[in-house]
Amino acid sequence: MRHSSIFLGLITAGVALTGCMLVRPAQHWEPFPYETFHSQLVIHSDAPLSGKQRLLDELAEQRGLINSKLSLVPTETPIHVYLYGDESDYTAFMNLRFPEMASRRAIFVGTDQKLSVYAYWGDHVAEDLRHEVSHGYLHAAVPTLPLWLDEGLAEYFEVGEGRRGYNITHVQLLAAQAQSNNWLPELTRLEALDSAADMTQQDYAESWAWVHYLLESDERAEVLTSYLHDLADGNPTEPLSTRIGRRLIVPQSALAEHVLTLR
Ligand SMILES: [Zn+2]
Repeated sequence: MRHSSIFLGLITAGVALTGCMLVRPAQHWEPFPYETFHSQLVIHSDAPLSGKQRLLDELAEQRGLINSKLSLVPTETPIHVYLYGDESDYTAFMNLRFPEMASRRAIFVGTDQKLSVYAYWGDHVAEDLRHEVSHGYLHAAVPTLPLWLDEGLAEYFEVGEGRRGYNITHVQLLAAQAQSNNWLPELTRLEALDSAADMTQQDYAESWAWVHYLLESDERAEVLTSYLHDLADGNPTEPLSTRIGRRLIVPQSALAEHVLTLR
């Protein structure tokens, strides 16, 4: 539960929330005097980012990685990343603006007008930014992404290029449950989630596991990518679990067996 995401849709009557978050009007009273552009990313920071170029380059390159893996059409929608140099400044901001999420190290906020990431430069900044920026790229291409899939994909891509989505934290959690026959994952349960604030570590792990399972074979990946394309195009779509049931043979034990092969 290191990360979180808030997805907002603005309507004429006010602000409609698809997460259970009350968010104040968009405004930035915090000073971010430094601004740099890295492809689709606009990095705003309260301190110079000299010496941080490698991570910023990696975040920019993640655009191609995600779009290629998911066969998505790249967009040019800017993703604004607000970076605090100190955790205390970030926490003060979060307590004011997103108190329900103040314990999270980083956050993605998506509206129909702007995609924003907030984070601070701490020990986990690379993983945090890869995760939150993934939300940005995904929302730019597929604004109606279901919550569980949004998080599952971000957990997949947060590990960085070259690891094929292997997230050791989730493997360890789920493999222990699978080995003791104590895990019966149901995708329909994840599909019913509607609040990022209420998602548990188990929810993040299972969401990641479904994404990893689907992306690890061409046949299964096609079911996921075609679903994403229909969402991106605004086509009517049934839940992904329904599509999987129609197009693939996925035994009840498939996900557990997949995770056990990853130990
Ligand atoms: Zn997230």
